[in-house]
Amino acid sequence: MKILVPVKRVVDYNVKVRVKPDQTGVDLANVKMSMNPFCEIAVEEAIRLKEKGVATEIIAVSVGPAQAQETIRTALAMGADRGILVQTDDTVEPLAVAKVLKAIVGEENPDIVLLGKQAIDDDSNQTGQMLAALLDWPQGTFASEVAIADGKANVTREVDGGLQTVALQLPAVITTDLRLNEPRYASLPNIMKAKRKPIDTKAPADYGVDTAPRLEVLKVTEPPKREAGIKVESVAELVAKLKDEAGVI
Ligand code: AMP
Repeated sequence: MKILVPVKRVVDYNVKVRVKPDQTGVDLANVKMSMNPFCEIAVEEAIRLKEKGVATEIIAVSVGPAQAQETIRTALAMGADRGILVQTDDTVEPLAVAKVLKAIVGEENPDIVLLGKQAIDDDSNQTGQMLAALLDWPQGTFASEVAIADGKANVTREVDGGLQTVALQLPAVITTDLRLNEPRYASLPNIMKAKRKPIDTKAPADYGVDTAPRLEVLKVTEPPKREAGIKVESVAELVAKLKDEAGVI
C-alpha cells in the first residue's frame, strides 16, 4: 500500500507573525519556516501505518519554492521513503495544489492521500476536500483515529460535541486533526540517512497545472491591540463596574 503525504512549508508555529507595512501580507523575511504541524501529524500517521505492516511506501510531496526541499527532507528523516518537489516561486492556492496532487495521484496510484486538515499560514482547510472532489474519492476529514482493514479505512472524526466514525472504501483522502498522534523527532542517524533518499523535482507545468491565483488579497491587518486592564480594590467595586460600566450583569 502506497501513501502520498503532501507537506507544506509554512511559517513556524512559534513565530509571532508581523504584517507587512503595506498590508499586502505577512512579512516572511528572515522568518523561521517549518513543516506545517498538521502535515507532521500526517507523516507520523503514515509511518505508523508502515510500521504496522499496513503501508509499504510513503511519498512526501511539496508544492513550493526550492526551500520546500527542506520540508520534504524532514519528512524523509522522520521515515518517508522518497519525495517529490513541485517547484514554484508563485503563491499557490489550494485548488492549484489539489490539481497538482491529482496529477501525481494519476502517476503514483497511492491507496491513501494523507494531508493535514489545514495549513496554519492561510488556514484554508480546502486542499484535501478539493482533491477528494477532483478524484471523486471518498474523504475522511479531521481524523483523530485511522484504522485500515480489508480495503477500507475507518476514520474517526472530531465533530462538534463528539466523535463520528466513517468507513471509506480505499483509495481515499484522509486529513489529520491535532489529536491523531504526536509526531516523532527525527533522530540524527535518520537525518543523515534522509540525505540519500531520492527527491524528484518537477514544475506545475509538468502536470499541466496553471497556478495563477484566482483570489486577490485586499488587505491583511494585525488584530486590534488589547487595552490595558485595571485593578479594583474590592469585590464590591468589581461588581459595580461590571454592572454600571460594562453592563454585563
Ligand atoms: P490548506 O487547504 O491550505 O489549509 O492545507 C491543507 C493541507 O493540504 C496541508 O496540511 C497539506 O497537507 C496540503 N497542502 C496545502 N498546500 C500545500 C502545498 N503547497 N504543498 C504540499 N501540500 C500542501
